[in-house]
Amino acid sequence: MSVPEVKYTQIFINNEWANSVSGKTFGTINPTTGETICDVQEGDKADIDLAVKAAKDAFKIGSPWRRMDASQRGRLLNKLADLVDRDADYLASLETLDNGLLYHTMSRPFTGWSANMLRYLAGWSDKIHGKTIPIDGDYFCYTRREPIGVVGAIIPWNTPIILTLIRLGNALTCGNTLVLKPAEQTPLTALYLASLVKEAGFPPGVVNVVPGYGPTAGAAISEHMDVDMVSFTGSTEVGRIIQQSSAKSNLKKVILEMGGKSPNIIFADADLESAVEWSHVGLFTNSGQVCIAGSRTFVQEEIYDEFVKRSVERARKRSIGDPYDPNIQGGPQIEQVQVDKIMDLIESGKKEGAKLECGGGRHGDKGYFVESTVFSDVKDHMRIAKEEIFGPVQSIFKFKTIDEVVERANNTSYGLGAAVFTNDINKALTIANTIQAGYVWVNVYAAFAMQAPFGGYKQSGIGREGGEDGLDEYCEIKTVIVKIPEKNS
Ligand code: ADP
Ligand code: MG
Repeated sequence: MSVPEVKYTQIFINNEWANSVSGKTFGTINPTTGETICDVQEGDKADIDLAVKAAKDAFKIGSPWRRMDASQRGRLLNKLADLVDRDADYLASLETLDNGLLYHTMSRPFTGWSANMLRYLAGWSDKIHGKTIPIDGDYFCYTRREPIGVVGAIIPWNTPIILTLIRLGNALTCGNTLVLKPAEQTPLTALYLASLVKEAGFPPGVVNVVPGYGPTAGAAISEHMDVDMVSFTGSTEVGRIIQQSSAKSNLKKVILEMGGKSPNIIFADADLESAVEWSHVGLFTNSGQVCIAGSRTFVQEEIYDEFVKRSVERARKRSIGDPYDPNIQGGPQIEQVQVDKIMDLIESGKKEGAKLECGGGRHGDKGYFVESTVFSDVKDHMRIAKEEIFGPVQSIFKFKTIDEVVERANNTSYGLGAAVFTNDINKALTIANTIQAGYVWVNVYAAFAMQAPFGGYKQSGIGREGGEDGLDEYCEIKTVIVKIPEKNS
């Protein structure tokens, strides 16, 4: 796989490329080497204002987008899906360059998956219908599910193509327009996708992409009086700021998908080999940079020592290095700041008395690599048990009873994912029913489906993305009541 050429580095508004109003640019870094790939135009409030104006104009009553048949919206989204498939090797390669995702097992399959997700959503375009409701009196009552207006999307760096296309697909299927800000660490694939939006034939202003930083461009979206909804994925701290910006501006609708500290519960009766492997995958995938990582592995005491031993063997076998190499299982962390945060948490784990079984240090001297790290004897009060690490650090806890593990698993401010490994259907269903989390797996980890909703309980999120429930978030519901004359004359 050769390093791809970067084709788009400007701001995309009204189907045109432009430099930033301020003239500023910023560098995007290849996390595998730590070197700058290229400079990208740095959007700020002035650029967001232009993008929002374009999106608002594209949404005006009577505009080409508002007059377009719903089925035609679906055809455009299918066209976009075809273009994503056509350029999938290139897109995935660009994603790996900018982000460090493994090409063969992650960015390439994720790109094909994203194209299929667009097709799934495209199919909904002409099926967003309301209800007729029998109400008391001589009236005819029906509902319409209408687009909300200008949707602002603020996305993080961990899986940019998927997160860009799910926002784009949800917003456009329902007839909204979009202003999207990719993460400052990974602007490149969203910009290339913008070029495909134009090629697919979407009218100008329907999709606008403004790269830039959070406190400037991101805040300009969440504070904007003409943005009608914000869809955000990122940290809980920033999600809180976005919710506040909505309250202080126009009370725009906000949906948030944030952090997690997801419990992964292994009962003594589970298939041990499979549980060890899935727990490894559930934590180490994307070097731990997954919001739904199984970062609290609870293992029943009868099998605890054996589970730890096998997990350590598995972690030691995980090969780390060049994300384009098909034999590599672990790529880099996204940036130095994240590496420092992970190292600080590893140090805290050691100091607070967890047992470091393997790893614990930096890997190599180039780029942002961290060794595969496993802690055993982790206790609930430790920082590594409570804070999101977002790195390749597995923490293994011991439990005795089901009641105890349910209480401990739920004793967190987060509620994104959970998994249970057992061959006892009663234990599986008890966990599935009692864990406060938006996504629960039984005897598997990190199986995702575009047809199903994804989101969090508690401080992991508000709202859902994905499936029919995800589309509901992007619609307003209007009730219409029509008086029926008492007599026909
Ligand atoms: P992470 O820790 O995963 O990088 P962040 O929450 O910091 O997550 O960032 C996720 C997205 O939110 C990025 O696009 C970032 O630029 C944006 N962002 C950061 N701070 C703000 C802010 N104050 N207002 C709006 N968006 C922000
Ligand atoms: Mg980058």
